[in-house]
Amino acid sequence: MIAASRPVSEPARDGFIALNHLDEDAIENYIFNRLDNSRCLAVERHLRSCSACGQQLRDTQEFITDIKTAFFGLPAPARAVAH
Ligand SMILES: [Zn+2]
Repeated sequence: MIAASRPVSEPARDGFIALNHLDEDAIENYIFNRLDNSRCLAVERHLRSCSACGQQLRDTQEFITDIKTAFFGLPAPARAVAH
C-alpha cells in the first residue's frame, strides 16, 4: 500500500494525474499534503468523479490511521494509583 520503491525526493511523474486513475503515490502524497496546489486540485477533481480512487483513498487513509494508532494512539495508561 505504502510503496517505498522510489525516494520521496524524486519528482512526481509528469501527467500522473492524466492517467486513468490516481496512482498510489499520488494518493499517498495527497494524504500527506505533499502535492503542490495544482496537483492537489487535480487529485480532488479526479476523486470527485471516480469512486474507485475514492475507495482507494479511504483504504490508504485507514491503513495510515491504523499505523498511527499502533504507534501513537495507544490508550492513555491508567492513572497511577496514589497509594
Ligand atoms: Zn480513478
